[in-house]
Amino acid sequence: MDVILIKKTIFLQLDNLFKKKEMAIKITDDCINCEACEPECPNNAIYAPEEDWKMSDGTTVADDTEREAGSDDFFYIATDKCTECIGFHEEPQCAAVCPVDCCVPDEDHVETDDELMAKKDKLHA
Ligand code: SF4
Ligand code: SF4
Repeated sequence: MDVILIKKTIFLQLDNLFKKKEMAIKITDDCINCEACEPECPNNAIYAPEEDWKMSDGTTVADDTEREAGSDDFFYIATDKCTECIGFHEEPQCAAVCPVDCCVPDEDHVETDDELMAKKDKLHA
């Protein structure tokens, strides 16, 4: 491996290391089912308990497949549709309006700003 290639590899690794990491939001079982968050989501990613979800709800994605509800007891977020509100708002709107602070980062779904923006563009092409 030549020196330039080694430097480029190190640079890319450092860039990835320091790139800001974002993640989808999830709703915990502290939810009191107040419904305040649901209308605030720009991607229609928030659903009521037992309600099946679809990619096409509130997006331009032509996929009407009904997917199983993420919770039978509490409001839930369809992770595939959550962009942390990137491209629409400065902060996650569900977390901003939740009276019990139960909309929290989902450590299992970490995405970069670029990935979230690409997701947003795909949902609203
Ligand atoms: S963070 Fe934004 S996009 Fe994600 S569920 Fe909450 S309101 Fe919807
Ligand atoms: S705003 Fe909070 S408490 Fe109300 S439904 Fe949404 S997640 Fe649950």
